[in-house]
Amino acid sequence: MIKSVLNNILSGKAIEFEEAKELLDTGREELYLLMHAADTIRRRSCGNKIDLCSLINAKSGFCSEDCKFCAQSSHYKTDCKVYPFIGVERIVKKAKKAKGWGADNFCIVISGTGPTEEEFDKIKKAIERINKEVGIKVDCSLGSLRIGMVKALKELRVERYNHNLEASEDFYKSVCTTHSYNGRVSMVGMLKDVGLNPCCGGIIGMGETPEQRIRLAFSLKRLNVKCVPVNILNPRKGTPLQDIETLSPFDIIKTIAVFRLILPGAIIKIAGGREYTLRDLQAMVFMAGANGMIIGGYLTTKGRSVEQDLQMLRDLGFEL
Ligand code: SF4
Repeated sequence: MIKSVLNNILSGKAIEFEEAKELLDTGREELYLLMHAADTIRRRSCGNKIDLCSLINAKSGFCSEDCKFCAQSSHYKTDCKVYPFIGVERIVKKAKKAKGWGADNFCIVISGTGPTEEEFDKIKKAIERINKEVGIKVDCSLGSLRIGMVKALKELRVERYNHNLEASEDFYKSVCTTHSYNGRVSMVGMLKDVGLNPCCGGIIGMGETPEQRIRLAFSLKRLNVKCVPVNILNPRKGTPLQDIETLSPFDIIKTIAVFRLILPGAIIKIAGGREYTLRDLQAMVFMAGANGMIIGGYLTTKGRSVEQDLQMLRDLGFEL
């Protein structure tokens, strides 16, 4: 079945939902065949370049939303650092650092459902300065925006806007009740209407079924998203998901491989939770179809050193 799905995709036929579901159940003995299929599609559709992003959490905590996976929600008591908007200077400084690391993109992120006018003005100033002084592609993840704000970011040559679906539609309500799945889909539609590339993915390992994981990938396919960050839940103390059992490294590797078969040409970017959940098997997701990575730490957790990540990617034969 793996060979027939691979041949179908290579000849331009998309994988079916039922096939993807079955492949997610691949046993340990066939895992390498599945990885090989995903790696073949990745090389054919995307080449050998790895997409590296680095981010800054420019405002942390204080969030009125109740996303059950998030340490920044004010509904929960967590040990996450809480601070207001950090200002232009620190954002520009971090962008310079990201450029020095070799990141392709630098993403400005703030907690909450959207920036205030004052915060948005400062973010625009930071982007202008980064464009002028740093020369790294800028992405943003600022929550839900009005169309005027999306247009303003487009004019500032923002490359991508991150707005994740987080989960499949039928699982979404189990992890967030204060804002809707449809609202997230509409925001992605607005980005596309304005011509700003959506960066849109989700989180796996939140208690969803394997089928719901596949549904998320098919929803992303329907939205024709070109950059798909995949976070793997690192359960944070104090959140409702704190005691959830994390996915096994093999389940994560299989999920990434099947995502590649569903989304042949997308950048599949391994985001938060990589070090915590994959441990010594991190390299295997990049042999199973992944072609993007966040370096230099995440929103509320640290990653491992950038040098270790870059060495792993060089050893795997990726172009940096
Ligand atoms: S994911 Fe975003 S919207 Fe949800 S609680 Fe965290 S910061 Fe707030």
